[in-house]
Amino acid sequence: TVCVFGSINCDHMLRVEQLPRRGETVPALGTGTGLGGKGANQAVAAVRSGAVTRMFGALGDDAAGALLYTQLHGHGVDVSDVAVQPCMQSGAAYVTVGADGENHIVVAAHANAAASPPDEAALRGCAVALAQLETPVPAIGAFFDAAARTGALCILNAAPAVADGRVLFAQTDVVIVNAVELASYLGVKGEVDDLARARELLSRPGQCVVVTLGAQGAALISHDTIMHSPAAAVDRVTDTTGAGDAFCGTLAAHLAAGGDWTSILAAANAAAATSVQRHGAL
Ligand code: ADP
Repeated sequence: TVCVFGSINCDHMLRVEQLPRRGETVPALGTGTGLGGKGANQAVAAVRSGAVTRMFGALGDDAAGALLYTQLHGHGVDVSDVAVQPCMQSGAAYVTVGADGENHIVVAAHANAAASPPDEAALRGCAVALAQLETPVPAIGAFFDAAARTGALCILNAAPAVADGRVLFAQTDVVIVNAVELASYLGVKGEVDDLARARELLSRPGQCVVVTLGAQGAALISHDTIMHSPAAAVDRVTDTTGAGDAFCGTLAAHLAAGGDWTSILAAANAAAATSVQRHGAL
């Protein structure tokens, strides 16, 4: 089983020709709403890769929450442990996507800020515990604590880059970051020129970092190896929203199923490539 502790949002999508500059107003070419949030997106990706997947997190007691609950369930995610917070709104993300596939995202955490972690008993049977940084860091720490006690592998997608998130790295077996997040955690301005520097994020034996590299695919960096896995071919980039989430959820599912890192990274790249060719996060 893959257990995901993370955010569940209602995504409000706006398609525009070009992302607005500061102070600029632009017309929408199309709009839509749908299930989103890094936690929910990654749970759906794990299900699509064949894993039995349980979601832990919080929704508000509003109409959006009821819809998100139904949608997540409809995708095949076990939502029986998703909490409904009274008198709160469900998380929301405002996503603007340009014709070139680039995006601009503003997130209102709402109920996600009140998400509380499952205890050890609730995580029985969990092979892989997966979290992101859209829920409070202390709650994620408690989730990994409980998961580690059950013998689960702990994966942190350290996104979005928040300085506090760094304290969780010691608790994880795998940290997944994109190139921008890697630079942020290393305190590097601009690009990180040497991927081996990702080792600075490791603190104990057996840990590894997976860096996603956009059209270049991804790389696994452990204490003694660096393995590169090229991206899958894409006809046309439509929308990069959720590519990282497809990657993380797929990686978690394949790690839970067991397998070698070469095939795990290839599967994660393939799922992410499919995602960039679709509109929306899912
Ligand atoms: P994020 O979307 O989180 O910023 P990346 O840009 O690194 O992260 O993309 C995540 C993954 O999506 C990559 O590791 C890759 O597998 C896939 N991907 C992104 N852009 C492309 C592309 N142009 N062609 C093929 N795969 C892509």
